[in-house]
Amino acid sequence: MICAEYIWLDGVQPTQGLRSKMLVLPSPKSTISLSSFPSWSFDGSSTSQAKGSSSDLFLNPVQYFPDPIRGEKNYIVMCEVLHVDGKTPHESNTRSQLRTLLDKGANEEKIWIGFEQEYTLFEENKPLGWPEEGFPKPQGPFYCGVGAEVVSGREIVELHLAACQAAGIYLCGVNAEVMLGQWEFQIGHRGFEGEIADPLTISDQTWVARWLLHRIAEEFSIHVSFDNKPIKGDWNGAGMHTNFSTYKMREEEGIKEIEKAIEKLSKTHKEHIAVYGDKLEERLTGLHETCNIKEFRAGPLDRGASIRIPAHVVSKGRGYLEDRRPGANADPYRVASRLIQTVCS
Ligand code: ADP
Ligand code: MN
Ligand code: MN
Ligand code: MN
Repeated sequence: MICAEYIWLDGVQPTQGLRSKMLVLPSPKSTISLSSFPSWSFDGSSTSQAKGSSSDLFLNPVQYFPDPIRGEKNYIVMCEVLHVDGKTPHESNTRSQLRTLLDKGANEEKIWIGFEQEYTLFEENKPLGWPEEGFPKPQGPFYCGVGAEVVSGREIVELHLAACQAAGIYLCGVNAEVMLGQWEFQIGHRGFEGEIADPLTISDQTWVARWLLHRIAEEFSIHVSFDNKPIKGDWNGAGMHTNFSTYKMREEEGIKEIEKAIEKLSKTHKEHIAVYGDKLEERLTGLHETCNIKEFRAGPLDRGASIRIPAHVVSKGRGYLEDRRPGANADPYRVASRLIQTVCS
């Protein structure tokens, strides 16, 4: 037998969450492939995806990963939610929108993407490592810190890192963040042979990495928050910087393509903000390495801009751009779709 943990996005608004349930399957006779996993169903009335009596919805497997939690011969299966006709994507199925955009032509631009996912670990009502009463010392020593005085939660972070690697996720790196209890992992292009960091692959992987993080933290009774501004006041928020390139941006003189993209992005700021996460205004204040939500600013090396061109991209004259606006609770499918709509139009 094998265990297959089916994962999907629910319909909760304004921020969709993750759900999963496990299906026992007979050991496959031949090598495992996507078709080893049958479509399945669930009760949409319990996930804000259906009302009333006929609430069954379909789970359509689209990607599978070795399951690092249950170990060998078990799998995690990412699914799209469909209506019971087995064809029509459910309204909450934001992956299908991205898939359609790519199929309609955006795939030809050979897009690579990379998400920097920040998050905050919580023990009951306070970030992990914070004192019972009051606050930790002001921000400064925590970012990329080492030692029990300035770091909390590393045990979970290391387990998560190992789990992502065992699942074959394109995890690029991990770092402790500016606020105590806050961390970041990056998933995306890492230049390894045979890997293509296309938007669908990387968005799926980012959702699965989020699921793994929730699942691992569960064992410690720690809650993972993807809130944009988990603690009000002079404490950093949590974002999901999105790194984006087309084939042309990565070629000789690609910097001109990057500049063209920025020009287009400057005209659609509102449309991007609309899908970049709930309560984004609490994070994009103009402080804490952000640009105010009401402004659009782009520039090389500028960590206070909406769009930054990284230093090594400037010096090489080609590469990618970084959209610093998406919040930690943004949906990678929607962020990728919006960037494609603007940049590849
Ligand atoms: P930062 O300096 O902003 O903290 P990180 O090192 O945390 O940057 O993240 C860099 C991200 O850029 C990674 O997710 C990586 O996958 C992504 N990336 C690198 N090269 C490209 C590229 N050519 N196109 C798109 N994304 C890229
Ligand atoms: Mn980063
Ligand atoms: Mn960061
Ligand atoms: Mn960044």
